[in-house]
Amino acid sequence: MLSIVSTPIGNLGDITLRAIETLTKCDAIVCEDTRVTGQLLHLLNLPKKELISFHGYTNPEKADVIIERLKNNQHLCIVSDAGTPAISDPGFVLISKVRATGLPIEVIPGPSAFLAALSASGLPINQFVYLGFLPLKKGRQTLLKSLINEERTIVFYESPHRIQKTLSELATILADQPKRPIVIARELTKMHEEVRCTTIGELKAVTEVMTVKGEFVVVVGGK
Ligand code: SAM
Repeated sequence: MLSIVSTPIGNLGDITLRAIETLTKCDAIVCEDTRVTGQLLHLLNLPKKELISFHGYTNPEKADVIIERLKNNQHLCIVSDAGTPAISDPGFVLISKVRATGLPIEVIPGPSAFLAALSASGLPINQFVYLGFLPLKKGRQTLLKSLINEERTIVFYESPHRIQKTLSELATILADQPKRPIVIARELTKMHEEVRCTTIGELKAVTEVMTVKGEFVVVVGGK
């Protein structure tokens, strides 16, 4: 059995009972960074486990070794450093390969930064578009321009190094729609959690005083 286990995005208290139970009883944990997952087990007072590194740069053939173990009835978990595996994180390659074998998979849902930001945003979220991280170069301008006519709420991840530049690009591209709402969610579930709700027209003034440390999710209201 492969268990896909979500872990907290900053607040240990957000671990679920099922995640604790599953991480405790499994044979080994496939993880993005063994140090991060080792530390999570330690902080949660969970038993030490064999940690198998499987990140974005891992040779996909390593998945075959993991699949062999699943075929031998081992119970493995997959986690990422934080949040839900395969959401802008490693996991997809392994999960799709295991799916193709027909071996059992269960999912232990839990935190994900974009869902937390959407629900905190106060914007309509019956429908939304999740963009992950925006492309750095190729396709970036096309994607940003496509937001001009997007009617659904848009959510994406951004790093602290690029947040100012990205917000300034958004302010320029959406300048003709100054009333469109935009929400900048920072350090969700952590001590310095901050959710700034503003509009495209006011965005420049907000970014000038905004703290640019930590982790960010940006939510933009639809046209
Ligand atoms: N798999 C994760 C999930 O389910 O949310 C996302 C992993 S992605 C590599 C990491 C990005 O998520 C960060 O760069 C940031 O944009 C966002 N993020 C993660 N934790 C966050 C938090 N506590 N507050 C705001 N954004 C966060």
